[in-house]
Amino acid sequence: MISKIIRKILGKPVKKSVNGPTSGNDLQPKKITVKVHQIDPKLISPNAIKVTQTLQQAGYKAYIVGGAVRDLILGIKPKDFDVATNATPDQVQALFKKSRVIGKRFQIIHVTFYNNSSHARDRMEIIEVSTFRALLVETGKHIANSGRVLSDNVWGSQSEDATRRDFTINAMFYDPSTQVVLDYHGGMADIASRVLRMIGDPATRYREDPVRMLRAVRFAAKTGFTLEQNTLEPISQSASLIHDVPGARLFDEMLKLLMSGHAWSSMTKLREVGLDQGLLPMLDVILEQSDQTSFAKLALDRTDERILQGKSISPGFLFAALLWHQVEQQWKLNIKGGKPSIVCLNEAIDEVLSAQREVFAIQRRFETDMREIWSLQPRFEKRVGKMPYRLLESARFRAGYDFLCLRCQVGELPSELSTWWENFQNGSLEDREKLLVDVKSERSPSTSDMPGKSRRRRRRGVKGKEALENDDQSQQSF
Ligand code: ATP
Ligand code: MG
Repeated sequence: MISKIIRKILGKPVKKSVNGPTSGNDLQPKKITVKVHQIDPKLISPNAIKVTQTLQQAGYKAYIVGGAVRDLILGIKPKDFDVATNATPDQVQALFKKSRVIGKRFQIIHVTFYNNSSHARDRMEIIEVSTFRALLVETGKHIANSGRVLSDNVWGSQSEDATRRDFTINAMFYDPSTQVVLDYHGGMADIASRVLRMIGDPATRYREDPVRMLRAVRFAAKTGFTLEQNTLEPISQSASLIHDVPGARLFDEMLKLLMSGHAWSSMTKLREVGLDQGLLPMLDVILEQSDQTSFAKLALDRTDERILQGKSISPGFLFAALLWHQVEQQWKLNIKGGKPSIVCLNEAIDEVLSAQREVFAIQRRFETDMREIWSLQPRFEKRVGKMPYRLLESARFRAGYDFLCLRCQVGELPSELSTWWENFQNGSLEDREKLLVDVKSERSPSTSDMPGKSRRRRRRGVKGKEALENDDQSQQSF
C-alpha cells in the first residue's frame, strides 16, 4: 500500500534521509578491480548479464548484487543471481517481456529466461531484480512492536541499499560490463579475513528481522567464516524473536538451511549460537538425543553430499528423516494402547505433524510426502504373498525404499532387509519368487510391524495375520 502510493506520487527512485550510525546515504564505495576480486566471468549467468546490460542500455544503473557477488569472489558458482537497479519495478517490467512483480514485503521483479544454459535449472532461470531500497523510515507504521519490519518498499540510493543488506560480504555490487566491484562496507576485507559481520548494530538488525539470525548461522556454516563477536553476541538473547516470524517464512529459511549443502554443520551451529533451545523442538530432539543423532546425521550428511554433487533433494524426504524418531517413539507409545499397528502409526504421524505445526508448518505438499514415506515403512517388513509386488508399484516406492536404507544403515533394521529389497526390485520374476521363498524359510524380521522390534519375530496367530492383511489393505491408497 505504502509503496503503491509512493510509486504513484513519485514514479521514480526517491531518497529518504535517515539519521544515525547505520546511515548509508553518503557512503562512498571502494572500487575493487578484477585484479583484486578475481571474479571468473565464466561463473556468471549469461542471463544475469543480459539483465544488467538491458537496464544499463536503458540508462539505469544495474549490478549483480548480494550473495552472487559473495560467491563469485569466493570462486563458487552462485545458485541464483540477484540484480539491483535504480529503475523502479514498473520501469524494470517495461524492459522485460517475461517479468512479474513478486512479494509484498520486498517487491521484486522476476525476469524469467528459458534456455539451455548450464546455470539454468530445468531450462528455466529467474533473475531477481530489485530497486535500490532506502533505509528504514522511522514512522513506526510499518514496524511491529517487537521492532520487526513489516513492509518497506521505499526506494533509495545505492549506498542506502548496501547499508540495509545484512552482512558486509552480502553488500557488494558487481558490474559485469566494467568488472568492478563496489564495496560499501568492507566486505572484501571481511572475505579476506573470513569474517561474517552484520552491517549496523547487530541487535537492532536482528530485531528488525529475526530471520537474519538464521541467515548468520547458514552463511557461517556455508563459508566456514567466523561470526564476528558483535554479530554473534546478541543472537542468544534475541533467540525468542524468531517466534514473531511468520511460519511460512521460517519454513523457507529452515529449508534453505537444510539444503545449503552444509545442513549438519548448520544444525550444530544453531546450537552453538543458542538458537536451538525450545525454539525449534525438532532440532532440540535431533541434537540432544544421541541415539537419534546418528539417524538424523546420516540423513543430513546424505543431503549435503547430494547437494554438493548437484543432485536434487526432496524436502519431504528430508523432513521425514528429521522427524522420524518422534514418529517412531509416538508409534511405540500408541501401540501400548492395543490398537492395530498401522492405526497407531497413522495416529503417531498426525500427532507429530500437528506438534510441528505449532513451531512452523511444513508445506502441505511436503507433509503429504512425509506421511507417505512413513506409512510405507511397515510394508517393507511384510514380505509375504503379493504385498511386496504391490509395494513396488506404489508411487512413493523409491522414497520409501531410500528411507528404509537409511534405517538399515543406522542399525534400526537389519541390513539384510534393504539388500533383500534391492534384489527384489532388480530381480526377474523368478528371482523375486525365490526371494519370497527365502523369506518364508528364514526366521527373519520380515513379518514384524512393530517399530524397533525388527530382530525378534513376534508370534502371530490367525488374528495377527489378519491384522497384517488389513493393515495392507488400509494402505492401498498409495
Ligand atoms: P544464497 O542465495 O546463497 O542463499 P544470498 O545472500 O544470495 O544467499 P538471498 O536470500 O538470495 O541470499 O538474498 C540476496 C541478498 O539480499 C543477500 O545477499 C542480502 O544482501 C540481501 N538480503 C536477503 N535477506 C536479507 C535480510 N533478511 N536482511 C537484509 N538483507 C537481506
Ligand atoms: Mg541469492
